[in-house]
Amino acid sequence: TSATVGSSLIPVINKLHDILSSSGYELSNISVPQVAVVGSQSSGKSSVLESLVGRDFLPRGCGICTRRPIVLMLENRPPCSDDDGAEWGEFLHLPGRRFYDFSQIRQEIQAETEREAGRNKGVSGKQIRLKISSPNVLDMTLIDLPGITKVPVGDQPSDIEIRIRRMITEHINNENCIILAVSPANSDLATSDALQIAKLADPSGSRTVGVITKLDIMDRGTNACNFLLGRVVPLKLGYVGVVNRCQEDIKKNRSIQEALAYEEQFFRDYPVYNDVSNHCGIPQLAKKLNQILEQHIRKDLPRLKAVLNSRMHAAMKELQTYGDFVESKAEQGATLLHILRRYCDDFSAMVDGKSQEMSTK
Ligand code: GDP
Ligand code: MG
Repeated sequence: TSATVGSSLIPVINKLHDILSSSGYELSNISVPQVAVVGSQSSGKSSVLESLVGRDFLPRGCGICTRRPIVLMLENRPPCSDDDGAEWGEFLHLPGRRFYDFSQIRQEIQAETEREAGRNKGVSGKQIRLKISSPNVLDMTLIDLPGITKVPVGDQPSDIEIRIRRMITEHINNENCIILAVSPANSDLATSDALQIAKLADPSGSRTVGVITKLDIMDRGTNACNFLLGRVVPLKLGYVGVVNRCQEDIKKNRSIQEALAYEEQFFRDYPVYNDVSNHCGIPQLAKKLNQILEQHIRKDLPRLKAVLNSRMHAAMKELQTYGDFVESKAEQGATLLHILRRYCDDFSAMVDGKSQEMSTK
């Protein structure tokens, strides 16, 4: 799982979690980073997300597969002895039902897509929300989005392109969202829908990472080095090139592990990529994302500290209202009785309708 996104940050976050919970504060207050994939249809967005998570569970393949936004809320659950590090998924629309089998998660995504968007290539902006609980993930949200398409097919309305663009923009306009702009290597980067829509949401390029897929099926005699080095379309955070599973691999049920091994072999077989190896492969993409996520969390720390300070201040103030510090048991008992009596007085006043609220004194 060393390739998966977020895994290297888990120890840091768990430490933070311990510190915060010992002061009665929940980590859920740290802003959870988001990563969304954008690009044209079949560019390999779902494949990239799956490789990053290290599990097979997203609908992917030829034609339109992702037809609703899929919001994956990864939730770190510290390992405990009785659940053996199990990973499970739970859908918002099926509360209480835990899916331990990830192929069933894919089936349910497909079924739920059809319930909302029909069976004939229809698209809906209504999210499918899935929580994945695991000791091997970082608290973060991954969003798989339908790809940009131009020509309506099946039940798609004539303005399908506008609708999908709007759906994507709604998700990536969030300043908290890291954008993975996915473009296939077998078409020109200058025509990339992914880079174009990412640029609209993030003009400075401070949260956009370029991902070039399908390096394995480029025109013979060409390679993606110029793309990867940012010589075609410059990008502040740079590019990573990857090789995902092809349609045949999907048909043959090739595992993610096999795919990662194949990718590694691919880069070994093509010496042109030796010089740009820090721009190549899913593990490099995960590493890059981890660095960005770490910066994101770091950026959030001062805010978190301010919240904690003001909490502490309020707690100290409250403590003072209980009067002087008392030592003996008898005095403590008396103080407690005093507090209780005042509480009862307040309560009866409220019941009598004399007062609207309990005093905090
Ligand atoms: P999405 O529509 O952008 O989510 O794309 P998918 O992940 O569903 O992939 C679309 C098709 O492209 C599938 O048939 C994948 O097997 C294939 N594909 C994706 N990435 C690669 C790649 O790097 N190399 C090859 N050969 N095929 C890929
Ligand atoms: Mg997809």
